[in-house]
This record gives sequence, C-alpha cells and structure tokens, in this order.
Amino acid sequence: MKCFIHGNQEAVAVCKKCGKAMCASCSSYSGHSGLCPVCRKQEFELKRTRLNTEIESYKWPIIGYAALTILFCWTIIGGIYGGYKWYQCSQEKSAKQLEVCKLTAEINKLNKALSYRSTSSSI
Ligand SMILES: [Zn+2]
Ligand SMILES: [Zn+2]
Repeated sequence: MKCFIHGNQEAVAVCKKCGKAMCASCSSYSGHSGLCPVCRKQEFELKRTRLNTEIESYKWPIIGYAALTILFCWTIIGGIYGGYKWYQCSQEKSAKQLEVCKLTAEINKLNKALSYRSTSSSI
C-alpha cells in the first residue's frame, strides 16, 4: 500500500478518521496522532475557529467587569474623600460657631457699655 499524498512512499499507517494510508513522513508531520495530515489540519482549523469564537465572546464580559472594577474603585475613593471632607467641614463649622458665640458675647458686652453711655448722657 502506498501513501495517498506521496505516491512513491510505502504506507506505514492508516488514518483513524478517513482510513487513507500514509507514509512515515506524513505520520510524523501529524505528530504521530494516528490522523493523516489532511484530517489533522481540519481538526486544528476547527479548533482554531472555535477558540476564535470563544475569544470574541469574552469581549463584553471583559469590558463590563473592567467598568464594574473602575466604578467600585471610584466608589471607595469617593467614600474616603467624602468622609474626610465631611469631617473637615464639621470641624470648621463648630470652630466658626464657637467664634460666633465669642463675638456675640463681646458685642453684648459692648452694647451694655454703649447703652450705659446713652442713658447717662440723657440724664
Ligand atoms: Zn485522514
Ligand atoms: Zn506521505
């Protein structure tokens, strides 16, 4: 029996799939898989097409999860920044409220002095 590709070569094996005879070099080209180079190539091409389809299907999940990750990071950053600013603002607010209280007390004191002057001068 001769190889179906190399007509001058003696066949050493038969393809598991198509049943064609192949020589030693064909068998080694196919990685001694038991398949002829034609069937082996078909198998690889099918596998490649399937993988490409699978790779394509990762596109939207990758974009979606990346967006989710970025959003989550910003939420944390926003939370930390917001919390810090909130604390800072409330500190400033109470400091200013204290100042207002002091000023009110000073103004009341001065009002008392001024009212004394006006009443004493009128007498
Ligand atoms: Zn074959
Ligand atoms: Zn051959």
